[in-house]
Amino acid sequence: MKILVINTGSSSIKYELFDMAHQRRLASGLAEKIGEHMSLVTHRRFMSGEEPVLKVVDTAIPDHVKGMHCIADLLMDPKEGVARKRDDIVAVGHRVVHGGERFRSTTVIDNAVMSAIRQNIPLAPLHNPSNLIGIEVAASLFPNALQVAVFDTAFHQTLPMRAFLYAIPFEFYEKNRVRRYGFHGISHACVAEEAAIYMDRPLGGLNLIAIHLGNGASMAAIQGGKSIDTSMGMTPLAGLVMGTRSGDIDPSIPLLLGGISGMSLKEIDELLNRESGLKGICGTNDMRDVISRMEAGDERAAIAIDIYAYRIRKYIGAYVAALERLDAVVFTAGIGENVPLIRALCCRGLKRLGIEVDPERNLAAGNGVREISPAGSEVKVLIIPTDEGLKIARETIRMLESRPGARR
Ligand code: AMP
Repeated sequence: MKILVINTGSSSIKYELFDMAHQRRLASGLAEKIGEHMSLVTHRRFMSGEEPVLKVVDTAIPDHVKGMHCIADLLMDPKEGVARKRDDIVAVGHRVVHGGERFRSTTVIDNAVMSAIRQNIPLAPLHNPSNLIGIEVAASLFPNALQVAVFDTAFHQTLPMRAFLYAIPFEFYEKNRVRRYGFHGISHACVAEEAAIYMDRPLGGLNLIAIHLGNGASMAAIQGGKSIDTSMGMTPLAGLVMGTRSGDIDPSIPLLLGGISGMSLKEIDELLNRESGLKGICGTNDMRDVISRMEAGDERAAIAIDIYAYRIRKYIGAYVAALERLDAVVFTAGIGENVPLIRALCCRGLKRLGIEVDPERNLAAGNGVREISPAGSEVKVLIIPTDEGLKIARETIRMLESRPGARR
């Protein structure tokens, strides 16, 4: 049973094909620079026990329709393909960034769902339009496959009002739905489920702090398997210090920037989203570069790392207060999974909260779930690789199997 997972951006399509009978990834890739003079498709084919086979295609892809055709041709290539025909793909799972308040869980896509995603465009003007195009193109290319939307916001729809409502006049919530939504929900849900499996406890009985540290970064306080608070807000700009995003700042700063330097709203938006965070403090957004600069004696890089970890530590403290009881802290994504220094700094001084990192375990290499707290710790500190593609594929299969008349 093959499931295609699609994540469509304004000029790109990320895709993964899974064989769900064996929970195996068959292929993955990225079509980028769509609409530009020369586009690029990087396609990986996975064979069991071997290194993935890489194929790079340079070709002009004028639009997403052509992009999806190009991807389908690679997946169904008579010699090197991983599927024989289009109907082998029984469902397509779409990552949709903003489900607003309407979508609390994964849903099968129909016309009403399409128009609800369209209505949420003001909440995610850069993402939802591309997601809609991806759905339309996939539906025309795979007309017999079930189309399913998996929302990045849905996991956080369990936030109580005290955590999601901003203290501004209530009418902005009523009329414009201004509130905290939170993002990275697919990843937070994925690692929470894996934590429950690893700890051999029902997710409904676990209190967790999930820390997703990639280029974008966010945290979630998860009580009994449900998100009760999260660091991103109405948009993904809020919360932690990120590669190029500021995270939390005094809300008056954008107003002052306009006044001091005459910057336009668009320029301020660009400054806070693309020129701030680690990059704003020390000139580079890639954690590997920040660490090598710090090791070479660069003071700005050292302060950037200090601020980065300090913000996370403060959120851990806040979420311990929100959760009241904590079973595990989970690190995930590029930085969370790969950078022992950051994990150690984030948990420094938190022994009184029951949170401790064992230096040797933290440095040990490994795959899969790893426990880095000392044996017998009150709170487990875990590294859990996130697999958002597989999570979307699993959600998609769940929708397929819950349909009336589905084979079980
Ligand atoms: P992601 O968005 O999850 O792909 O994460 C991207 C971030 O993870 C970047 O800041 C990378 O520098 C960082 N990263 C990924 N792998 C490593 C690694 N092996 N060592 C240090 N940083 C890494």
